[in-house]
Amino acid sequence: MATTERDYYELLGVPRNASADEIKRAFRRLARELHPDVSREPDSEQRFREVVEAYEVLSNSERRELYDRFGHAGLRSGGFQPGSFDFGSLSDLFSAFFGDDLFGVGGRGRARGADIAARVEIELTEAAGGTKRDVPFEVAVPCERCDGKGAEPGTPITTCATCGGNGRVQQVSRSVFGEFVRTGTCPTCSGSGTLIEQPCEQCGGAGRVIEQRTLEVEIPAGIHDGQRIRLSGEGHTGTLGGRAGDVYVEVHVRPDERFVREGNDVYTTVDLTLTQAALGTTVTVPTLTGDVELTFDPGTQPGETRVLRGRGLPVLQGFGRGSQRVLVNVVVPRRLTEEQRRLLEQFEDLADAETYEAGESFFDKLKSAFR
Ligand SMILES: [Zn+2]
Ligand SMILES: [Zn+2]
Repeated sequence: MATTERDYYELLGVPRNASADEIKRAFRRLARELHPDVSREPDSEQRFREVVEAYEVLSNSERRELYDRFGHAGLRSGGFQPGSFDFGSLSDLFSAFFGDDLFGVGGRGRARGADIAARVEIELTEAAGGTKRDVPFEVAVPCERCDGKGAEPGTPITTCATCGGNGRVQQVSRSVFGEFVRTGTCPTCSGSGTLIEQPCEQCGGAGRVIEQRTLEVEIPAGIHDGQRIRLSGEGHTGTLGGRAGDVYVEVHVRPDERFVREGNDVYTTVDLTLTQAALGTTVTVPTLTGDVELTFDPGTQPGETRVLRGRGLPVLQGFGRGSQRVLVNVVVPRRLTEEQRRLLEQFEDLADAETYEAGESFFDKLKSAFR
């Protein structure tokens, strides 16, 4: 089964008469945009899947012709199966396609620094209003003693014989996409192009040292549990001038026993006693932005819902807020004194069908619970 029924030309943003070169260029451009290390879009993996599938089809003249004439159905009957990708190794796939030069770093062992994962916990009320957190993490920074070169100051640095100082070696490999030449990192010098005789005392030759760092992170209002905030360029230092990685701060929103969150809405329950529900009452109800008083009419039923518009969470990076839905629970007495029992029995004797007759709006109210 294809993962998408969308038009492949549309997905790549090319005209139907696009040349093979144009298709390749469009694919490379999109792949850069959608790389999970780069893209902030939550659906970038899905979109990347689609784009790869489109490229798989349109970059192959036979498949492309089949698709042009018969569309998705034609491909299926032609036995086409889109590749299934393990996104754990997406960066492998990328380097298979593009070498390590995808982001234009390339050059003598210059590589982008690794990303760092950090995690913070916030309360639901903080998610509603937005908050700040100091996030501590360990980060590799260039060693000052050797200026990031790894050699003890004053000792020689020689050119690597394996790669001739280039830091890169070429390998030919095969994949589902056919044969291609891949430029890889030199195994002898690990891409630096140079060899060190006496490693720097400070960093042991790594050229980098680990530093404790704390950054204040702004957590936007409306953030959802598990979302990540990217701090661009705050990750580990790159090698030989490569740009630093990013820090991804995963935000965990602690559950709040008073509220159940669903998207930007929250649900709460309010307990009314049998008599409060029958006689009507005013009770205090917690919201994300403080307590409010809610008045319930006489004859309030269990399961009724009150919608407090705008009392939910704000839409992340958008406009408006969700609602709070307050669900009425009626608690029934569990232990009665002799006198209470007598009074309830007396009440029961006086009650008739009319006592329990539903008002016209009851079912309308009930319906709002399921909206
Ligand atoms: Zn050093
Ligand atoms: Zn080398």
